[in-house]
Amino acid sequence: MIGIYGGTFNPVHYGHLRTAIEVNEIFALDELRLVPCSQPAHRDEPEVSAAMRVQMLQLAIQATPQLQIDTRELERAGPSYMADTLASIRAEIAVDRPLFLFIGTDAFNGLSSWHRWQVLFDYAHIVVMTRPAFKPETLVKFYADKLVNDKHSLKSCASGKIYFQQVTQLDISATFIRQIFAMQRNPSFLLPEAIIEYIQAKQLYKA
Ligand code: ATP
Repeated sequence: MIGIYGGTFNPVHYGHLRTAIEVNEIFALDELRLVPCSQPAHRDEPEVSAAMRVQMLQLAIQATPQLQIDTRELERAGPSYMADTLASIRAEIAVDRPLFLFIGTDAFNGLSSWHRWQVLFDYAHIVVMTRPAFKPETLVKFYADKLVNDKHSLKSCASGKIYFQQVTQLDISATFIRQIFAMQRNPSFLLPEAIIEYIQAKQLYKA
C-alpha cells in the first residue's frame, strides 16, 4: 500500500510530519510519499520556489526513512492538480494495489472545488485526517456511497472509498510560521531546527 500526502509545504512543519508518521503506522503502509506541489491550483504561487520547499522537505525527513519525497509535480508544467498526480502514480503501480490519498480536514472541506475531484476516487482511497470533534462541512451526498467505517476494508480494493481517521493534530500552520518569521519571533518547536536554520540562512519569509 502506498500513501500520498500532498501539500505546499511552505514550509513543512510538525503538523505535517506528526500526522504523516501516524498514518504511516496506522495503515502499515509500504511507503508514504510527501508530494510537494509546484504551482498550487487554489492559491497564488508561493514566493518560495518549489526547489527550496523540496530542500526543506529533505531536511525534515533525512532521519525518517519511512517518509519519502515524490517530486513529480515539479516536473509538470501548469497547475499541480492532484487528479493528474494520482493518475500518473496509478499508471506506475499494479491495478489492484491500494493507494491512499491523505488530506487534512481543511483540504477535505474544499475537496469538491478541486479540479476533477470525482476522478480522485478512480485512482485512490481518500483518508481524511481528523480531530476528535470533527464535523464534515462537505455535503455528505458527495461521498455517502463511498464511506467506509472499517479501515481494513480499504485494503480489499485499490481505490474508491473514503475513510475518516483520527490523528494527533498539532495546531500549527505554515501561514502562522511565515508570520512568526516575518515578525522575527522565535519559531522553535513548530518545525525542525534544521529548517529554521535553512530559512534564516536563505532569509525566507521576511516582511
Ligand atoms: P498554509 O498555512 O500555507 O495553508 P498548511 O500548514 O495548511 O499551509 P499545506 O502544505 O497547505 O500546509 O497542507 C498540506 C496538507 O497537510 C493538507 O492536507 C492539510 O490539511 C494538512 N495539514 C496542514 N497542517 C496540518 C496540521 N497541523 N495537522 C494535520 N494536517 C495538517
